[in-house]
Amino acid sequence: MMNFRMTKQRKAILKLLDTSNKALNVDDIAMLLDDKAINLSTIYRSLDLFLNDDLIKKILLHKVPYYYLNRHSNEHYFVCEKCHQLMALPCFHDHITLLAKQENFEVSAHEMIVYGLCVNCR
Ligand SMILES: [Zn+2]
Ligand SMILES: [Zn+2]
Repeated sequence: MMNFRMTKQRKAILKLLDTSNKALNVDDIAMLLDDKAINLSTIYRSLDLFLNDDLIKKILLHKVPYYYLNRHSNEHYFVCEKCHQLMALPCFHDHITLLAKQENFEVSAHEMIVYGLCVNCR
């Protein structure tokens, strides 16, 4: 359930994040949007709303915030610190369960981001 009005502009920003295989920063989003009338403050505001509603996730790459769609199912990624490409990483669920058992820790959720450089950026 969304706690904000889905305007045409917000829909366009969300669609961009949905179709990108990279984590995007605010400047990337402004550049990639077809509608050049959408200004940076609209983008910032939209991203805040999306974050509040758990529709997207935020990571820092070289201290700059980058955003990607929260797919709720696969939250395991390699992320390239240079081109910001996201690559799905297989789930370590069995391993996590084992480690949690050893620590007598009850897991409610997990996510994993592994930072580095992709084959094209090395
Ligand atoms: Zn790369
Ligand atoms: Zn998993």
